[in-house]
Amino acid sequence: MSDYIKGNKYPNYKPSNSYSSGRICLQENCDTVISKYNKYRYCNAHKSKTYPRIKGRQKPEGLQEPKA
Ligand SMILES: [Zn+2]
Repeated sequence: MSDYIKGNKYPNYKPSNSYSSGRICLQENCDTVISKYNKYRYCNAHKSKTYPRIKGRQKPEGLQEPKA
């Protein structure tokens, strides 16, 4: 009469993206070991700066300008 309730694995379980560990920044004279969760080939100090999109959608490219 005393059955244990077993928990199931979360149904949409998805492992974190990970990349090979022990990578070293490509910048010369930089020996920083990059986290395996970092998808870039440079450490945080040397990767090019990118800004995430904060809000809204990006302006479409190549639209015709309205005639004056
Ligand atoms: Zn670096």
